[in-house]
Amino acid sequence: MALVNEHFLKLPNNYFFSDIEKKVNLFRVTHPKADIIRLGTGDVTLPLPPACIEAMHKAIDEMGHEATFHGYGPEEGYHFLINEIIKNDYAARGIHLEPSELFISDGSKSDTGSIGDILRHDNSIGVTDPIYPVYIDSNVSCGRAGELQNDGKWSNVVYMPCLPENNFIPQIPSQRVDIVYLCYPNNPTGTVLSKNELKKWVNYALQNDTLIIFDAAYEAYIQNPDIPHSIYEIKGAKKVAIECRSFSKTAGFTGVRCGYMVIPKEITAATLAGKRIPLNPMWKRHQEVKFNGTSYITQRGAEAIYTPEGKEQVKANIRYYMDNVQILKRALTEFGLRVAGGEDAPYLWVQAPNGMSSWKFFDKLLYEAHIVGTPGIGFGPSGEGYMRFTGFGKKEDCKEAIYRLRRCL
Ligand SMILES: *Cc1c(COP(=O)(O)O)cnc(C)c1O
Repeated sequence: MALVNEHFLKLPNNYFFSDIEKKVNLFRVTHPKADIIRLGTGDVTLPLPPACIEAMHKAIDEMGHEATFHGYGPEEGYHFLINEIIKNDYAARGIHLEPSELFISDGSKSDTGSIGDILRHDNSIGVTDPIYPVYIDSNVSCGRAGELQNDGKWSNVVYMPCLPENNFIPQIPSQRVDIVYLCYPNNPTGTVLSKNELKKWVNYALQNDTLIIFDAAYEAYIQNPDIPHSIYEIKGAKKVAIECRSFSKTAGFTGVRCGYMVIPKEITAATLAGKRIPLNPMWKRHQEVKFNGTSYITQRGAEAIYTPEGKEQVKANIRYYMDNVQILKRALTEFGLRVAGGEDAPYLWVQAPNGMSSWKFFDKLLYEAHIVGTPGIGFGPSGEGYMRFTGFGKKEDCKEAIYRLRRCL
């Protein structure tokens, strides 16, 4: 008899996004003529940069000829891509990384979700609240999160609330935690950490022997030159932090699939007996066991992001999304709402008026303005009373949304 991993059964059913769709569908049935605007989408909408398309076409042609065909590639990724990443994303910011410290992947969901495979099941974890759900769910499914309690929190997870009282900046936990997940610029709040704030986390990790998983999926959206793009801009971070990045939101790769993870040589974790084990070779072995690489075509497409044309095209797409989020932010603020984020990230974290719940605010926006947002409660207990808006829609839709919101708020 095969037995199941019963921790997996603890995962609550993911009703959240289907609940949104149910509500939208019901509304459509009763209001067939209404033109719905989606301001909640977490997926990009602009097409791939032409430089990437061109590079991928070329790669496909190579695959069609015996002399230039590529079969299995290196598990850690092709060095033509790794070298561009090191040169442009790190060396340009004064960070020295070796090629063997990078692992090309099919995106950050896989990386943040699988890194737990090489870490013991009983580590304690710390997360900001609200949070990108993958960090918790991947720990639930291996038993690391403990049990779900009545307050919606997991027993072995330390929650760091991000609320207006702390300007949505998580406070360092008072106890020690083995593994901390940080996502900056943040999804869903759209907020960032200054160099000083990030320094506090690195120092906490150094003092408490904590491992930081730093998700920098939105670093390309940073506008303020003082905000760190990489955790390795902080001294000592290479001893304590793993960094994940993705081309999904940077260059529209959500459907193409490519990202990477940095595991510096210095990073170690302990055995129960106290022996320090470097995580870099462990992850290399993990990828050898479970992964056969991201496609050659995809990696050639990602490489093209770093060409002069590619950089310009990526910048233009990000500009478009950031303009959207900025015009939304200005309008919502003018209408009297409290809005965080949107300066260095494509997300706005909007407080529902008059103490309304997330779902109540959702219904109001849907029925009175025909606008769909993402209820904050879906991102954790501290998300109650909030709505996430994104800049990933069309500019015309954002403008129309503002016109409607002015009447409804
Ligand atoms: C979109 C997103 C990612 C990217 O995931 P991929 O698997 O690379 O598409 C990673 N982290 C956060 C917080 C995100 O919102």
